[in-house]
Amino acid sequence: MEPISIGWMKIPKKMRQKLLNNSFCADCGDFTKIIDYTIEEDYFGLIVQGKCHQCRQEIVRVLER
Ligand SMILES: [Zn+2]
Repeated sequence: MEPISIGWMKIPKKMRQKLLNNSFCADCGDFTKIIDYTIEEDYFGLIVQGKCHQCRQEIVRVLER
């Protein structure tokens, strides 16, 4: 499996899982799971961009450095 981003892979697996499984979806008004995500790294940190597994609404999370 290719690492999607070095910065992302540096985060402990448990933390990553937690982030992906506990993200707020504004559409559902609840915490949900992010699917089909991509990770981008920029100056401010990591940007996790994916979809809510329930409503497929786009979810973006920024993890600041
Ligand atoms: Zn949703």
